[in-house]
Amino acid sequence: MIAETADRVAVMYAGRLAELGPVAAVIKDAKHPYSQGLMGAIPKLGQHLDRLVHIPGSMPRLNAIPKGCAFNPRCPKVFDKCRSHRPAASEIEPGRRAACWLYPGVTETALPAARSGCATSGSTTFRRTRCARSAAAGSA
Ligand code: SF4
Repeated sequence: MIAETADRVAVMYAGRLAELGPVAAVIKDAKHPYSQGLMGAIPKLGQHLDRLVHIPGSMPRLNAIPKGCAFNPRCPKVFDKCRSHRPAASEIEPGRRAACWLYPGVTETALPAARSGCATSGSTTFRRTRCARSAAAGSA
């Protein structure tokens, strides 16, 4: 359905952009491991399966997104950096972006002022709200 109605597709995970690119390219050659898992879970016509393929684990609560890459507890390609540094959706080839440390040139997400006195746990939206409240109260 997406392929019939759009030119480009954004794959989101836990409210964050995981991958962005032309629909045909993402379907045929997904770059982000989450996108790869989604594409791998689509049953093929004529294929006999006792069970559908799925991505192990479940989506995190939005107030408890893991540090680093949000997908790291479920990713089959996870390595140390993924657990501590959050990748930004960066251009990995012309017209395509992915937020994954597997690709050279991917940069770290610059976090808002949350690191300077505001709480650092929870979702970005939740942190911003708390930081804004702290600033308004003069305690930031
Ligand atoms: S950054 Fe690491 S954990 Fe996240 S998708 Fe890429 S390899 Fe997996």
